[in-house]
Amino acid sequence: MLATDNMFDITPTESSRLSQIDFDNIPFGRVFSDHMFSMEYRDGKWHKGEIVPFQNLSMNPASSVIHYGQSIFEGMKAFRHENGKVSLFRPEKNIERFNISAQRMCMPEVDPQTFMEALDQLIGMDADWVPNDPSGALYVRPFMFATDEYIGVKPSETYKFMIFTCPVGKYYSGAVKVKIETRFARSAAGGTGYAKAAGNYAGALYPAKLAQEEGYQQLIWTDAKEHKYIEESGTMNVMFKTGNTLITAPVSETILDGITRDSVLTLAKSWGYEVQERPIPFTEILDLAKEGKLDEAFGVGTAATIAPIAVIGYEGVDFELKDHNTWEFGTRVSKAMDGIKRGTEEDKFNWNHFV
Ligand SMILES: *Cc1c(COP(=O)(O)O)cnc(C)c1O
Repeated sequence: MLATDNMFDITPTESSRLSQIDFDNIPFGRVFSDHMFSMEYRDGKWHKGEIVPFQNLSMNPASSVIHYGQSIFEGMKAFRHENGKVSLFRPEKNIERFNISAQRMCMPEVDPQTFMEALDQLIGMDADWVPNDPSGALYVRPFMFATDEYIGVKPSETYKFMIFTCPVGKYYSGAVKVKIETRFARSAAGGTGYAKAAGNYAGALYPAKLAQEEGYQQLIWTDAKEHKYIEESGTMNVMFKTGNTLITAPVSETILDGITRDSVLTLAKSWGYEVQERPIPFTEILDLAKEGKLDEAFGVGTAATIAPIAVIGYEGVDFELKDHNTWEFGTRVSKAMDGIKRGTEEDKFNWNHFV
């Protein structure tokens, strides 16, 4: 069926690498499935996409992405259900956000239907790469970059849109030490913080490295103007629970509108928790921690779903949270999200898209 589909040109691999993969020991993001999707933009339009064996690209050294960074990406996961079927979690949200990122970086949008079809076909072809293990998943990485061979600063007239996938094991276990960052900024009003634009992540590496040298694994960014309000973490939104209340920063121009964030808030509301989306002075969180009222604090994102925070550091003083294994909400929501994604719990909100 695939080879005769004329929406995309399809060249299957002649020798699958699947049998060489040790699914019990997959290093995150370093093992790539057999195929990739690729589609080119030129002459003012997208041309026919293709699925080809995963392979290197050849680039002109003047490719504008290398110099001026017109490059955006997305990240989502495909899961195997007990009946063998494979689903993506809310991919239409990733597609929508991809096009929001594209617009901000002056890049052409990708037709959502073509995007979804590319996901369906690529993941369908490499379905055997979706781990059977209930803690594994297939990480899906769509991205787009500028390909003009020109070193003037202007929007490129040509682009490549691609998707590849990586089988991944359990992302992370254990709680992290985070530092409240009040010197550097990830994102400012008017900037590109709400876009999944490559440069945002490059700019965050140095402050993160300094924090790592102080013994912290992650940063919690504060607003660029006053360094007073909590924004988010490296590639995760952050949430705090006190009593029956879940608090998180509102999405804005400076914060990435996370799909995990939205899903967790939706579940919390449906369970009767009070959800507050509002500016959070970091001093409020430290005060809660001092008073022993900060029940839970965690990052939320596709890679880890829920990443519990063990310690929050500010100006050299560490505030310790209770053992995350005792957390009521974090435990419940991570179990529910996992169950929905893998089909062991009812998908009440219709979040799964079967490929
Ligand atoms: C991707 C990302 C998130 C999380 O988004 P999800 O859709 O939940 O994966 C949060 N913050 C930043 C900066 C991100 O890049």
